[in-house]
Amino acid sequence: MICEVIVDVAHSEVDKIFDYACDFPVEAGVRVTVPFAGRTVTGFVMRVKDMSDFPAEKLKKIYRADDFPALNAECLSLAKKIAERYRCPLALTLRLFLPAEMRTGKVSERYKSYIKIADESYVPPLRAAAQLALLSYLSEKGEEEAPVLRSRFGGAVTALLKKGALSEEKRQVLRDPYKKLGGERRERVLTPAQQKAVDTVTETEKTVTLLHGVTGSGKTEIYLTLIASALEAGRTAIFLVPEISLTPQMLSQLRARFGGHAAILHSGLSAGERFDEWNRLREGSARIAIGARSAVFAPLENIGVIVIDEEHDGSYSSETSPRYTTFEIARLRAKYNRCKIVLGSATPAVETYRRAMEGEFELVRLPDRINARPMPEVEIVDMRREVRRGNPSPFSAALREKLQNTLDSGNQAILFLNRRGYAQTVICRDCGYVAKCEHCDVSLTYHSEEDCLKCHYCGARYKMLPACPSCGGRHIGYVGTGTQKVVQELKKLYPASRILRMDVDTTSGKEGHYEILSRFSRREADILVGTQMVAKGHDFPSVTLVGILDADMSLHFPDYRSGERTFQLVTQVAGRSGRAEAQGKVVLQTYDPENYILRFAAKYDYEGFYEHEIAMRAATAFPPFAKIVRVMVSGEDERETVEILKEVYGRLQQVYAAHLEKFLFFNRMHAPVKRIQNKYRYQVLMRLVEGDVLKEIYSAVYDEKYKNVLVYVEENPSNLS
Ligand code: ADP
Ligand code: ZN
Repeated sequence: MICEVIVDVAHSEVDKIFDYACDFPVEAGVRVTVPFAGRTVTGFVMRVKDMSDFPAEKLKKIYRADDFPALNAECLSLAKKIAERYRCPLALTLRLFLPAEMRTGKVSERYKSYIKIADESYVPPLRAAAQLALLSYLSEKGEEEAPVLRSRFGGAVTALLKKGALSEEKRQVLRDPYKKLGGERRERVLTPAQQKAVDTVTETEKTVTLLHGVTGSGKTEIYLTLIASALEAGRTAIFLVPEISLTPQMLSQLRARFGGHAAILHSGLSAGERFDEWNRLREGSARIAIGARSAVFAPLENIGVIVIDEEHDGSYSSETSPRYTTFEIARLRAKYNRCKIVLGSATPAVETYRRAMEGEFELVRLPDRINARPMPEVEIVDMRREVRRGNPSPFSAALREKLQNTLDSGNQAILFLNRRGYAQTVICRDCGYVAKCEHCDVSLTYHSEEDCLKCHYCGARYKMLPACPSCGGRHIGYVGTGTQKVVQELKKLYPASRILRMDVDTTSGKEGHYEILSRFSRREADILVGTQMVAKGHDFPSVTLVGILDADMSLHFPDYRSGERTFQLVTQVAGRSGRAEAQGKVVLQTYDPENYILRFAAKYDYEGFYEHEIAMRAATAFPPFAKIVRVMVSGEDERETVEILKEVYGRLQQVYAAHLEKFLFFNRMHAPVKRIQNKYRYQVLMRLVEGDVLKEIYSAVYDEKYKNVLVYVEENPSNLS
């Protein structure tokens, strides 16, 4: 038998399929170890065939193979498609489908030993009391874990094992990373609106349904019902959420409802746990894959529904090669499995909403919260007036008053701002020197707890400056406010209140998010201060006030999607308020109170926002009316990087010249952040009328290979810095 094998070496030069001979039966998708270039490497069987074009004596032999296929037929064909589409080595693409332990071969399944009676007729000597006790214990219990028995009955265990009266067996135990996620099972009667949504998804001819439902409209229950009916029909399901560690409540709900049928794929798990969850899906003992974008590659067969919650979230686009979007993978899997896709959001991406408006996707609207709870009232506060009134603090008078009321009434508040640390910039008031990272072209953020400066791009830390390194001056000033400073100010204003902070600095460790969220949910704190992590779908019934401290921050980000992002962020954070009986309030602080995006957000007017935004995108020819393509060229040696930029640009220019009518924009330049982690960054920026020159662009970029300089293509990148 001949096997076509792809070796797991992520070098584009060896990204070819090689023929190997095999003495034992294997099937496509099986992991093998093979001799390759004088080494032993892992590979995967892509195809099995009878004949090779190479003479039999030249073929090397497969050493070993797993006794199960790691990749099913669908995954193999999907991997090939992705590799072609993004010009990405197949070996690298296959890795999307596999937990790390499958590749390194260091699979450490965990075993436990169990002991039971093997010979019922054995009678121990009368004086051996321990042996008698042990046998009677086992005849009652059937079996017991070896360590338990050994600690109880000591040497008697070994003695009886030796005599053959007992037998010991090793069994694989699956690690259950979410054992402690209790959660009671709450099956609810769907509201008529929820039922109608379920029916529409089920009955529509269209593959994709967009659930456009305000925050608190009960979308989760709709997803769960659809997943349950897929399982009832003997099928499987994929449930995608933006950041799984931020949604412990969702996880407990899923566990409570589906028990062991739900497998959670999550980057915070240990490699072993991840492997176990993956394996349960592959074997079919778990039938729902839950996770962030990578869970779209779950090893499932016969998928009945794919749910993408918060579909607008930026985390659904991969930022490493291959730079896929989760939706397009879901689309391919839905086609193969003939199943439905459900996209849910209170603030759909403009592009998604347009496809629904044009009839490509089915659209279901859920304009009301469950039990007709009102949306929280949003008050826009003009921060320019606060400054004029001589209030330099990050809190407006209106926010202070409402915070006081909230605390007095025993409710909880969430304060959101998009900047961690203490102060955004450290500046010398004498000469204007700004502290910058040595490796990146960005200013450093002061962190008061560690009394150091941190680079938020590369993570580098620096000692706080006692004096200005440029002029020696001692008037070091802080500009801008971060989460640490907000907490400090709050403690001064409300000394009796209990405050929790949630940002990258406080959530490290496997259960960082979970800890903070569950403490807040147990009401161990009155105020939660945080970055956009606090905006994600949390459901805290006692939160009646949300303060958005700097709504402008994302608004002025240099990106065509900054308006859309701001609208989404404001709506999401606001949606955390007033989810139970008490009426919720939102205070939105801004230096730009007339801004139309903030106005629409304050009224929860998605349609109004959409009409405005789509008209502007059409007028300026931005997505979805055009495609932005960026070719990034970055390297440590600036001269070499510029040389290669010129080469790549030259080849792209030929594509441009041949298809002038398809380009709206074509130019090369510095990237907005000129250096990150010691790498100089240059780009060729293009805007295309349509996507059909993409193939040529990819060829122009990837046909030539470079050693020291990274060159890659991004389509509609979610981060243009
Ligand atoms: P969304 O995901 O749309 O923001 P959720 O799914 O979190 O909304 O639902 C909002 C709240 O309404 C939650 O507390 C949820 O438990 C509750 N809820 C959802 N569906 C029902 C129902 N059919 N009956 C009663 N309560 C419900
Ligand atoms: Zn840096």
